[in-house]
Amino acid sequence: METMKAPTGPQLSCKGWEQEGLLRLLMNCLDGRVAENPAELVVYGATGKAARDWDSCRAILDALQKLENDETLVIQSGRPVGIFPTYETAPRVVHSCAMLVPAWGNWTDFRRVEEKGLTMFGQATAASWSYIGTQGILQGTCETLGELAAQYFDGTLAGRLVLTSGLGGMSGAQPLAVTMHGGVVIVVEADEKKIRRRLAANYCEMMAASIDEALELAHEARVRKEPRSIALLGNAASVYPELAARGVHPDVVTDQTAAHDLLHGYIPEMVSPEQAVRLRRTKPKKYLELARSSIRKHVTAMLDFQRGGSVVFDYGNNIRLQGKLAGVADSFDFPGYIPAFIRKMFCEGRGPCRWVALSGDPADIYKIDEVILERFPQDHRTCRWLDFVQDHIMFAGLPARTCWLDFQERGILGGLINDMVRTGQLAAPVAITRDHMDGSAAASPYRETEAMQDGSDIIADWPVLNAMLNGASGAAMVTLQHGGGVGIGYSIHAGMTLIADGTECSAGKLARVLRADPRLGILRHADAGYAKARRMLQRI
Ligand code: NAD
Repeated sequence: METMKAPTGPQLSCKGWEQEGLLRLLMNCLDGRVAENPAELVVYGATGKAARDWDSCRAILDALQKLENDETLVIQSGRPVGIFPTYETAPRVVHSCAMLVPAWGNWTDFRRVEEKGLTMFGQATAASWSYIGTQGILQGTCETLGELAAQYFDGTLAGRLVLTSGLGGMSGAQPLAVTMHGGVVIVVEADEKKIRRRLAANYCEMMAASIDEALELAHEARVRKEPRSIALLGNAASVYPELAARGVHPDVVTDQTAAHDLLHGYIPEMVSPEQAVRLRRTKPKKYLELARSSIRKHVTAMLDFQRGGSVVFDYGNNIRLQGKLAGVADSFDFPGYIPAFIRKMFCEGRGPCRWVALSGDPADIYKIDEVILERFPQDHRTCRWLDFVQDHIMFAGLPARTCWLDFQERGILGGLINDMVRTGQLAAPVAITRDHMDGSAAASPYRETEAMQDGSDIIADWPVLNAMLNGASGAAMVTLQHGGGVGIGYSIHAGMTLIADGTECSAGKLARVLRADPRLGILRHADAGYAKARRMLQRI
């Protein structure tokens, strides 16, 4: 197995900082401390890869080292296919990943061409090399739960029980996000290794080996109104129905197994994680049958909890569709998390930014934190987040920070970071990027664009425009991808990354992209009829 560790410090191994920054981001995604399964180039989300295969990965790294400052590397689904002369303000890398002609946009056809080595599944931030470990989704999960708490529980989860599952790359953020809001959470996870990893990283506090033990621990903390996160070793398809049958009433129920991919992301009940690896390979049809039967029980139990009064929602893994395909007719009776809790932030241009210290020095991240606290004291959510995250998050791989910022803040911060690099306040340049779950970056009718006011859920022009606009505005890397979050056939989405290297050229790119990117998100929502977005458009 190859192991990756991104270079750090101010020395260049490439011909410019954009190439160097992208090289470091790719290597960082595949660092064993960051990726879920680096040996297979899998970064997170079941099978989300950063490069097609090891030869392609090596060829990309090699190409980045040779790439001139006025050239662009073209990547087709994780494999480099050519270098073209462009110009300095053009992207250094453009990447189209997992795209299929729409009529063939399904898992069966995808796997057929994947087996031939023609494509790869890139999830969202895996193929765009902007994955930074579980912190990347932590604030999104905190924002979601914060909004849920505001809508249903007077702004706090203190004394409330949340039931969920999955402690993988993204799902592993759930326990910490619940405790941040004062709540008690039981997270069901089928793989003990995943639980141990989250315990070691302080994302989760304790493990229970039985339902009884988990309930006892949860009860104790609820009564005292103390936050507590409990990982329960078990299968959600067995545990949820068992809890429902026992009359347990969690206040909130969701799920974040990688259900978008039943074959590689979901473990059927009575199958161990080790058996799952074998069975997927030897008897995929049998595996899918077992997974469908499990997901039927799993989703049925979620509906039972909803009827019993729990707040139930789909957390972006397409579990409702999987339930429906497995025979649960009313699986869409519970909502997706975007229309329920997040959309209004998209209307304001607020979205999940992140930045990575290419120096490898955590002090760079803390200095940027300080600048945010000083410059945006009115943004209480962000200030509270930074306070929390500084105490709770250990960096994995290159030091990085995720932060939901609004339209104004994004533009201002990009300029400030560039100035800090220019004046030597930071030890090296900084990569600025974002998740794909943003205002115009995703068309995903069971997630980001579910229940749009004008019915434009399936319109996929916006992420394509997003990628083209960010490319034209000077992002260092632009990606256009298929299937992230919810699986092949169900989403088109775009990624973008900038490198703040302190130069004037970089200042121009940052100013253009960090305004264009969120502005298009506001425009997309204004176009769909959201009054809040229309008001925002007039102000900016
Ligand atoms: P992952 O593959 O890293 O982790 C999934 C975890 O679920 C694994 O640890 C696995 O052991 C566990 N699991 C699978 N089946 C189980 C079962 N039946 N019972 C208990 N545990 C089981 O995936 P991830 O990166 O954590 O992503 C999880 C899902 O969330 C994916 O579908 C992904 O597409 C989606 N996602 C959501 C968001 C969001 O913002 N809501 C963001 C990114 C990804």
